[in-house]
Amino acid sequence: MFLKKYISDIFNAVKSLLIGMRRTGYYFTHRKEIITQQYPDVKQILPERFRGEVIMLHDENNEHACTGCTACELACPNGTIKIITKFDVTPEGKKKKALDTFIYHLELCTMCNLCIEACPTDAIKMAQNFEHSVYDRSQLTKKLNKPGSKIREGVE
Ligand code: SF4
Ligand code: SF4
Repeated sequence: MFLKKYISDIFNAVKSLLIGMRRTGYYFTHRKEIITQQYPDVKQILPERFRGEVIMLHDENNEHACTGCTACELACPNGTIKIITKFDVTPEGKKKKALDTFIYHLELCTMCNLCIEACPTDAIKMAQNFEHSVYDRSQLTKKLNKPGSKIREGVE
């Protein structure tokens, strides 16, 4: 009885190995059908609509289009965005609300895109970066407006 089971197990193991090797052999001769990628040496070109994180757009003058209106914060369903505003003084001496800090909690973001759609000035957009692994969760809380940046002239 033991011998019969022993031989049966060997037979099944060899059979299983041959089935696997047949699949390996198939892909060896059909290389165009291989979908597994050698990440990170080979990086896949992502679809245009892939959403990896929210970013704020800055031009070459370190200017952005965020007015600090908080529409994105209000549109976000889970508190991922916190807009901190300040008051700038215009050349006419009037106080004007402006963005101080755009806080983005990447660890909470579901990439739903609602904030992007809510922004009246297209100040933010989805970027494709997906390599977000960190050892410290606090590094997932980001400040999206760059140091020293300011609102582009003419954006209201
Ligand atoms: S993509 Fe969605 S979850 Fe992420 S910050 Fe925007 S509204 Fe919030
Ligand atoms: S990113 Fe857009 S919606 Fe959000 S505060 Fe700035 S201007 Fe308003």
